[in-house]
Amino acid sequence: MALQKVLEDRSNNECELCNQKDTELKAYAVPPKDDSKPENQIVVCATCLGKITEVDYADANYWRFATGTIWSEVPAVQCMSYKILTKLKDTDWAGETLDSVFLDENIVEWANAEDDLAQEPHKDCFGALLSAGDNVVLVQNLNVKGTSFTAQKGTVVKNIRLVHDDPTHIEGKVNGTAIYILTKYLKKN
Ligand SMILES: [Zn+2]
Repeated sequence: MALQKVLEDRSNNECELCNQKDTELKAYAVPPKDDSKPENQIVVCATCLGKITEVDYADANYWRFATGTIWSEVPAVQCMSYKILTKLKDTDWAGETLDSVFLDENIVEWANAEDDLAQEPHKDCFGALLSAGDNVVLVQNLNVKGTSFTAQKGTVVKNIRLVHDDPTHIEGKVNGTAIYILTKYLKKN
């Protein structure tokens, strides 16, 4: 959907997070709010949007702009920045920024609302937390539905994706085929 004029004007046709311009920009409603009004939305580039929707915060340095955008005059941008910094609070810079910023209570509440509703994390068979991009090893042979092969115990599955809304499954490639795997049948490598 084309950006609404109001968002176009507000963002100055730049990603409201990383400031990239001359790129395709999308409106993103900061959850759990919906896209019913521009105040709920931020204008983002494809890179930022992809990382946000995949909950991919592995490259902490990518998000350093959040130390600036947290001071935005746009509540939705502040909210998203707060969410980003919270994900990265173990880094010095994000932790310091969170300590020094004072946000409206409503924004903090908005930012935390999604996590409050959040699901269980993805864990491997030993309870180790799994993240997108992890490599895992199968701990038993698995018959792969819809294919003729068995994924062998000991197979390394690289660069997994977490299945959103389902902590019991990850997605990964075995024999070049993307399959869903139960997290209880794998171990973090
Ligand atoms: Zn961006």
